[in-house]
Amino acid sequence: MKVAVVGAGPAGVRAVEQLVRAGLTPIWLNEAPDGGGRIYQRPPAGFRRGHRALYGFEAWRARALHDTLDALKPHTDWRPETLVWNIRPRPRLLYTLHRGTQVEELGYDAVILCTGAMERVIPVPGWTRPGVTGLGAAQVALKAQGCAIGWRVVFLGTGPLLWLVAYQYAKAGAQVAAVLDTTPFATKLAAAPRLAATGCMTFAKGAYYVGWLRARRIPIAEGVEPVAIEGAETGGISAIRWRDAGGAEQVTDCDAVGIGWGLKPEAQLADLAGVPFDFDPVQHNWVPQRDATGRTPVAGVYLAGDGAGIGGADMAELAGARAALALLEDAGHRPDAALQVHLDRGLRRHARFRAALERAFPFPAQLAARMPDETILCRCEAITAGEMRAAARAEAATGPAAEVNRAKAFTRIGMGRCQGRVCSPAAAEVLAAALGCSTAEAGRLRGQPPVKPIPILPLAAE
Ligand SMILES: Cc1cc2nc3c(=O)[nH]c(=O)nc-3n(C[C@H](O)[C@H](O)[C@H](O)COP(=O)(O)OP(=O)(O)OC[C@H]3O[C@@H](n4cnc5c(N)ncnc54)[C@H](O)[C@@H]3O)c2cc1C
Repeated sequence: MKVAVVGAGPAGVRAVEQLVRAGLTPIWLNEAPDGGGRIYQRPPAGFRRGHRALYGFEAWRARALHDTLDALKPHTDWRPETLVWNIRPRPRLLYTLHRGTQVEELGYDAVILCTGAMERVIPVPGWTRPGVTGLGAAQVALKAQGCAIGWRVVFLGTGPLLWLVAYQYAKAGAQVAAVLDTTPFATKLAAAPRLAATGCMTFAKGAYYVGWLRARRIPIAEGVEPVAIEGAETGGISAIRWRDAGGAEQVTDCDAVGIGWGLKPEAQLADLAGVPFDFDPVQHNWVPQRDATGRTPVAGVYLAGDGAGIGGADMAELAGARAALALLEDAGHRPDAALQVHLDRGLRRHARFRAALERAFPFPAQLAARMPDETILCRCEAITAGEMRAAARAEAATGPAAEVNRAKAFTRIGMGRCQGRVCSPAAAEVLAAALGCSTAEAGRLRGQPPVKPIPILPLAAE
């Protein structure tokens, strides 16, 4: 049986572990040069910061995952630096590109997609200036390049990653000029009992990061609204303007800003494989349909980890193993009932925690919906929020309510290099508000191959 696993983060590693244990030799494809995924991303060779400095509390988990990954590689058809840029369910084919030069079509009988997540951004006036990055990119700079995004950094957004990255920067010696959380303190406080009740250690770690930052008197504001990121004459940025919870405008000087409002699944391959999507009102994300085991409505396609709906790294490990067990059972292997029970129990507990976390840091849809007309919404194609609203008005006047794919045809939003991966959540909010419909009704941008930009030459040669 030809089984493929896409992704070598926590979900992919644990999926492959179960497949190898059952005697299979899966094809294991990973876009990055090595495994570990986002959270346990391995630094390049020669990097001197150790596990403890890079992964903090998660150092032992990172080491355990890296050890398993290394032990598994020889038992698989391991293909790092290989992007899966398209997938077909009939005939079952994966389209791959190795190191940007070698294309290949691979047949599969079953595939587990463990493609992870990416950060979710709400455009703020000035967000396209050099010096503004996503929170995740700010973290990658620390983890993989050993540098900070600036000398005086402001972190803006909401969610656990906001506080974690601010903590990591301050701990590494960078000057954190402010942490600006758009979620009011009262919202988080109200969610705290539910978070604590799940017994997940993540809550305690989060509380520690916040306490650590407060103890060092790093300026923190909650319930804020961003106004604009201001440019410096030298070409970078000089300050961020924002409104505090009382509505008073404030200015914080800085030379870099990390922004992010939670995560969204990287689910384009699931989309191209024909898996239907639902709008999850709690996560405020479109998520591919799958059951608690990772089975999808498409035969032979299984999903695990953040690519199937945001759950975090610990949940991704459980989900990866669970999807592999489901695949093995469907292929006629005898299920390991005790392991299944253990995994299912863990997954349920993490799902409760995640739901509470989403309530603690809700996606501020209204912030996206009311961004000023002149704000660049799609930075690849330089489309403003005003152009999006104009398209919505034109469409509403002529026929049935628009949705984002129509708006794409009208404005080119989402047609650029990122294929809408960055702008689509905010674009849907702007459109929904302009049309007076729900975010779910505004729809989602359909995935298109290639899922990420690829050079045309190898394809042309093929
Ligand atoms: C930028 C960022 C930073 C994060 N930082 C933290 C953190 O510090 N702490 C924390 O607890 N959580 C963090 N998270 C969340 C955490 O990374 C995830 O919960 C966890 O890694 C999910 O594991 P996963 O296996 O589902 O996906 P990932 O760990 O993201 O792994 C996905 C893997 O799939 C590969 N891949 C994706 N698409 C393709 C494709 N088309 N072809 C081939 N390979 C592909 C990627 O290269 C990657 O190796 C972060 C998330 C992001 C996006």
